[in-house]
Amino acid sequence: MNNLAVVGAQWGDEGKGKVVDLIAPRFSVVVRFQGGPNAGHTVVFGGRTHALHHIPSGIFHDGVRCLVGAGALVDPGRLIEELDGLLEAGVAPRGRLLISGKVHVILPLHRALDGAMEVRLGTSAIGTTRRGIGPAYAAKVQRWGIRLGDLADPERVARELARALDSGIADWCRALGAEVPEPADAARDAEAWWQRLAPVTGNVTRELHEALAAGRPILFEGAQGALLDVDHGTYPFVTSSSTVAGGIPASLGIAPRAVEAVLGVVKAYATRVGAGPFPTEDTGRLGDALRKAGREYGTTTGRPRRCGWFDAPAARHAVQINGLDALAVTKFDVLSGIDPLRIAIGYRIDGGEIDDLSDVGDAWDRVEPVWEEHPGWSEPLADARRLEDLPARARAYLDRISELAGAPVALVSVGPDREQTIIAPDGLLGAFGRGD
Ligand code: GDP
Repeated sequence: MNNLAVVGAQWGDEGKGKVVDLIAPRFSVVVRFQGGPNAGHTVVFGGRTHALHHIPSGIFHDGVRCLVGAGALVDPGRLIEELDGLLEAGVAPRGRLLISGKVHVILPLHRALDGAMEVRLGTSAIGTTRRGIGPAYAAKVQRWGIRLGDLADPERVARELARALDSGIADWCRALGAEVPEPADAARDAEAWWQRLAPVTGNVTRELHEALAAGRPILFEGAQGALLDVDHGTYPFVTSSSTVAGGIPASLGIAPRAVEAVLGVVKAYATRVGAGPFPTEDTGRLGDALRKAGREYGTTTGRPRRCGWFDAPAARHAVQINGLDALAVTKFDVLSGIDPLRIAIGYRIDGGEIDDLSDVGDAWDRVEPVWEEHPGWSEPLADARRLEDLPARARAYLDRISELAGAPVALVSVGPDREQTIIAPDGLLGAFGRGD
């Protein structure tokens, strides 16, 4: 097999960045297909922490070409900052990074609308990152968006923005108390952004077709997670794009069969940022312990993440809607010293039991997890490099979550560093090995 997708199988922040960075040398191309700077991947190596928001996590490997496909979003100002940050860290992205000219651009207007809407919603806010993601995707499907390639023609940007404002967007801004942008300012921004971004903008779909025809291995990098998918997640508390593997071919303009296998990343427990259903959340002492041990604070926003237990119905749902071939279980080290451990094996609603998350409908406020308890272990796991190095109770816990989710474990992460990883010897990753 050549091409592998790595997607989040919970509510995001599962550690996809570490997994992609780790296996990227096995591939020629790493491509992101959705989301924008609401994603924050953290990659740790050589004692340094690197945060990425737009750029694929393969960028830290010299021979790997990094692409961003049409279904993603970019915030040009932030992207330029990210490029500068990489240069400071000694990584030269030029020549190795290409972003589709079809990617939609987040304008200051979208950020202003995002913030104003969240403020207006008060206690019923979605808990977005306020980075303008929702309004930029809304503009795209309402056909008043600006695409990265459009920045080449600042006059056109001004004209398109003026047309959008006239169509009612200016009234919407005023109603929300958000500043109405000046088309001339947008043209000036476009000109400045294009000077920096023109060299990294191009035809990503064509490059992917060439890579596919030549049999060059491709890694598809997801952002956010299955339960945040706009169609299959806990709507409306979701992100604004398709986070599941099915979104890959649509976003990139390639055949579905190009995605040959899918690896789902799950934490050994669960976290969620923002509002919305989270049946296994622990708002007490144990949730605090997980947050502290797992350093559960957002890469993009610094917000404390809500913490709780492994949710098997949610994992099973993720396995089904993505067609996951295997799991990468991360943050396993965080569970050492917590005893007992809990896993939700099903949900109870109105006296009945279900084990399929898609049967919950809109009854989230009445869901009670059905718990199974597991004996914990006190040994630290950070130095484990083989499955046999894990204490028997940790092995049993791993086997149980794999069995409940319905997918084998291909990788176990026991710390943030690249080294702190166990690759299952007979697992899915054995099929991918350009660099081995
Ligand atoms: P992503 O968006 O899915 O890439 O996830 P984030 O980067 O937002 O969050 C994952 C965080 O966990 C990062 O700070 C990683 O460095 C860290 N991390 C990843 N894997 C492990 C692990 O196995 N153990 C520990 N303790 N931290 C990890």
